[in-house]
Amino acid sequence: MLKIGCHLSSSKGYLAMGKEAVKIGANTFQFFTRNPRGGAAKPLDEKDMEAFNQYAKEQGLTTILAHAPYTLNACAAKEDLREFAFQVMQDDFRRLSYIPGSMYNFHPGSHVKQGAEMGIELIAQHLNKVLEYNVNTTVLLETMAGKGSEVGRSFQELQAIIEKTEKKDQLGVCLDTCHVYDGGYDIVGNLDGVLQEFDEIIGLDRLKAIHLNDSKNPFASHKDRHEKIGEGSIGLEAVGRIINHPKLRELPFYLETPNELEGYAKEIALLKSLYC
Ligand code: FE
Ligand code: FE
Ligand code: ZN
Repeated sequence: MLKIGCHLSSSKGYLAMGKEAVKIGANTFQFFTRNPRGGAAKPLDEKDMEAFNQYAKEQGLTTILAHAPYTLNACAAKEDLREFAFQVMQDDFRRLSYIPGSMYNFHPGSHVKQGAEMGIELIAQHLNKVLEYNVNTTVLLETMAGKGSEVGRSFQELQAIIEKTEKKDQLGVCLDTCHVYDGGYDIVGNLDGVLQEFDEIIGLDRLKAIHLNDSKNPFASHKDRHEKIGEGSIGLEAVGRIINHPKLRELPFYLETPNELEGYAKEIALLKSLYC
């Protein structure tokens, strides 16, 4: 069965997200742990989480993916910003410990003129610090499009971070189809080759999730603009090959396309019809 969901707003709580997911035909979903551009998260509502867990069990919702806020930069040049990233992630992990089987995805960071090597070092330091505590969630590094000074623009950069992290067992990678295509990996013309490269550099056993997006821009533009499924430069045929690929088909897919709920419901139905 295709494991498919989309990004949902967390403003009404967990149970509300679960119900929305089921309504649009999803069996998983992604959400922001807090305002993507702000800091404070809502107070932890244990009742809501328990109600959600019960509902998720009944409805078969699994592998819920939390997404860290965009403002979190583990390799910021300023120490107070790195401390903020640490505090946020630690608090997010505590919250996620209530949701069994959940995973946590984050953008590795932007090195802001310090250079990628320094960025990689700081991100690894951050992970070592935050994973020192017992964290029972899998932490995913997202593949980035390489706009600005983003770290994680290549499989090599992600692997360099993993290499320097002590608790490797808790790390995985989330492959964003828009980002990698925009970053110069030809998943349209040579999906097998890209996956082989991923396997050689990072190892496919680290690949835990897919952000399924089309791209507004042509191949290798490093711009990071998501498009609706089938309406961008990746196209529906390539998306069909991605969700059906023997090395990918069992993974959870999360849509982050420019849609309201209705649009997501249509995309989910379309993707289910393409899954064989
Ligand atoms: Fe992301
Ligand atoms: Fe993404
Ligand atoms: Zn993106």
